[in-house]
Formats: sequence, C-alpha cells, structure tokens
Amino acid sequence: MAAVNIPTFQATALEAIPKLASAARGQFRTHKTKKLQWRQVQLRKLYWALEDYKPQLVAALASDLRKSEFEALLTEVDWVKKDCLWMLDHLEKFVKDDKLDSSAVPMTFSLMNFRIRKEPIGTALIIGPYNYPIQLLLCPLVGAIAAGCTAVLKPSELTPACAMVVKEMIEKRLDSGCFSVVNGAIPETNALMNEKWDKIFFTGSAQVGTIIAKKAAETLTPVVLELGGKNPAFITKNCGNLAIAARRLLWGKTQNNGQVCMSQNYVLIDKSLVQTFIEYLKIAYKDMFPEGAKASKDISRIVNKRHFQRIKKMLDDTKGKIVMGGEVDEDELYIEPTAVLVDSVKDSMMEEESFGPVFAIYPVNTLDEALNIANLVHRTPLSLYTFGNKAENERVLNEMTSGGATINDSFFHGSVNTVPFGGVGDSGWGAYRGKASFDTFTHFRTIAETPSWAEKLIRVRYMPYDFKALNL
Ligand code: NAD
Repeated sequence: MAAVNIPTFQATALEAIPKLASAARGQFRTHKTKKLQWRQVQLRKLYWALEDYKPQLVAALASDLRKSEFEALLTEVDWVKKDCLWMLDHLEKFVKDDKLDSSAVPMTFSLMNFRIRKEPIGTALIIGPYNYPIQLLLCPLVGAIAAGCTAVLKPSELTPACAMVVKEMIEKRLDSGCFSVVNGAIPETNALMNEKWDKIFFTGSAQVGTIIAKKAAETLTPVVLELGGKNPAFITKNCGNLAIAARRLLWGKTQNNGQVCMSQNYVLIDKSLVQTFIEYLKIAYKDMFPEGAKASKDISRIVNKRHFQRIKKMLDDTKGKIVMGGEVDEDELYIEPTAVLVDSVKDSMMEEESFGPVFAIYPVNTLDEALNIANLVHRTPLSLYTFGNKAENERVLNEMTSGGATINDSFFHGSVNTVPFGGVGDSGWGAYRGKASFDTFTHFRTIAETPSWAEKLIRVRYMPYDFKALNL
C-alpha cells in the first residue's frame, strides 16, 4: 500500500467542546435527522468514507497497534462497512411505526388506536477504547445515524493516528455539525461529560465505565456500557476434539495480540486432558507461527508501555508455570502468546483481566469445580466458551451467565453483525449490532388515539362513577 500522511495528534481545545456539543444538539432540533432519507444518505456517506479512507485507516492501525492489513480490513474497516450496508437494507422497515392490532390490546381499549413511534433519542456521546479504534467507535455511530440521532465521538487517545484519521473522515464526510470528533484524554472527556447528552455510549474498562455512569447519573443521562471482564473457557472430559479446542482458543489470543474484550482469560480444563491440551496448543502455535510469533507480520503489538508493563507484571508475579510462549520485548512492545499453568484463583493470571496474549490454564477435577471457580472469579463476564458434550455445554450456559457465549469456538457470538452484542451485570449494560444498534438509540414512544365516535362506549370512566356500568 502506498505511503499515506497521517496528521499529528492534536487534542481538541477545551473551549471548543461545548460548541461542538451545542452544534450537535442544535442540529438535532432542526428535525432533519428524523427523515429516513437523511439517515440513508449519512449511512452511505459513512460507507464511502470508509472505502475512500481505507489506506489512511490501515496505515493508522499499523502505526498505533501494528495491526496487520488483514485484521485492519476484516475487523475494522470492512466490519463497519458491513454494518452500514445491513442497516441500509433494513432501515426502512425499522423506522416504521409498529401498529398494534386488536390482539395486542385488551378488549376494553380495542376502540382506540395504538402505535409505537420510533423516535431518535437525541444527541449522543460515543466514547471508544483503543483496541478496535475504528470498529468500536463507528459501529455505535451506525446505530446513532440509523436512529436519527446526532453525535459527538471521542476516540481513545492511546491510538492517536486512528483518532486523527477518524476525525478528518467524519468531519469532512458526514453532515457537518451533526457529527464531530473530540480528540483527547481525561480533561477532554471530562469536558464532554459536563455537557448534556441524551445518551452516552461508552466502550472501555469497568473502572472508567463506573466514572462515566456516576457522572451521567447526575443528569439522568442513560448510558450503554460495553465493558470487559475475565472470560472463562471450559474444557470437559467429553470435549469432542481437543486439538480444535486448543487451536481455536489460541486463535482467540492471537487476534489483535489478545487485546480483545472477548478473549478468554483462563481455561478451566479437566485434569486428565491438561498435558495433551498443552501439546496441541504448541502444535497450533507452530502452525500459525513457524518462525515464532515475533517474526510474524500478522500479530499486533501491545498498544503502549503502560499496558506492556501491566501484562508483563502478570507474568512476573505468577506462581504458575509458563507452558507455552513467555517471550517479552519492551522495545518492540511485544508479548508472545503465552499460556500459564496455575492452581489458584489468587494467582496474578486469574485476578486481572489480561487484555493481552496471555492466559491461564487451570486444571479441575469436575465440571462442578470448574463452575464454582468461574463464578468466584467473575460472576458476569462478557464472554464464555465451552467445549464439552451437549449436556455439559447446556449446563455451563445454565449455571453461569455472561454477556454472550460461544460453544466449541472462540468469539463468534460477537463476530456476526446481525445479532446483539453486549455485556451483563458488571461486564456492561445494553447491547448493539444488528437491530439492537437501531434500538439502542431509539425511543419507543407509545401513541394512543381515541376516536370521538367512541365517546358513548367509554363513558364509564367519568365521574360520578357507576359500578353497575363496569359490569364486574
Ligand atoms: P479505558 O476505559 O481506559 O478507556 C476508554 C475511553 O475512556 C477512552 O476513550 C479514554 O480516553 C476514556 N477515559 C480513560 N480514562 C478516563 C477517565 N478517568 N475519565 C473519563 N474518560 C476516561 O479502556 P481502554 O483501555 O481503552 O480499553 C480496554 C478496556 O475496554 C478493557 O477492559 C476491555 O475489556 C474493554 N473493552 C470492552 C469492549 C466491549 O465491547 N465490551 C470492547 C473493547 C474493550
């Protein structure tokens, strides 16, 4: 790909932030965003902007995360384009009022007309994380546009190249004033949080999510929180194909070098399978990285020194045994896909969300023990993976909750653009993707209409009350 110019990172001036928020609110009040055609045009513009800015976006992702072009296209640029196309295919149907037929209302009210109008919730603030700086900022935007909202976006400052390309792309290509991008870190986010929003869509850590939710509560602003968690994988004695389980779980840790909210933090595996599982992991590693992961052009780097140190500390502090990988190189911000055999929930590998290419393998005697441990580590993770027989997989789903789950693989509950994705409990509130993206930014407004001709028939409601007329 030809060399492209990426603007140097520049934080948005604090005094400009209230003006951008006010412009987005003002544009919403013009009511133009309520028109279906306007929304369709914006979605098409976003689609073509992504197509036209592909070289800059790919270069920015390489610069910020050393993300490969393959992943940059598949999991970022084309991912959002797919959301645009799917939404364009369905939007006309979504925006229509839902009419309630007589079976949906009690007899008493059947003389009235009921419908549910789909109204844009207003002006949204969308705050993104660093790991998928395009996808996780712009997929919520697809929902906001589809619903007829205006929005201000706040990309992560940890991926500065992406933040600058997104700012230029959105502000040049979408309806000016309706959509803008504020770049910066905590001061800029705080300035944004001092503005009034109709919805805040936050993707990031539980720690920052708590700050956002508390601040939003002061103005009764609804929030969607897409947070992380310590995701378990279960491998039972009856796992159908251990080699495939090993390969798929390793794959989950190699995508974006494990900087994925959905990837497994630890694998609870029947004791009898541990050694074979480790052998299969090593075989899968060798297949994916014949020269070692560091030499591969495909694997990303850790976003910065702070996160590198955080993950390295988990490896330094573990009392467990590294059974695969373990290489780290601070100069290159490289951490090798690494598996650590542990035997305590207090181990550093179990206590934190790894959000990197490292994971724990925890041997267990029974599925009961596995479920107890998993529920102890994190009762409501974002994701869960189970590799057992049918009955065992159902039991895992039944006895442990999670935002989403995949049976016999990694990630797929969150990889399909037509189904809702979100956390539960402390891994998040609310969902998006598919129709859920539209719903998230929509107010479902029930409208009742009473025909005048029905007056006689519904006179019973007026005082003086007449019990006999009620016919109870
Ligand atoms: P983060 O919470 O550190 O940052 C997210 C955003 O919040 C950034 O835009 C950042 O500028 C802003 N921010 C940071 N500190 C702030 C503060 N004190 N006040 C106000 N704003 C602040 O998250 P991250 O490190 O970018 O992302 C990693 C986390 O996000 C992990 O926990 C991961 O599991 C989670 N995550 C969740 C999902 C999901 O869809 N559920 C997706 C990706 C990442």
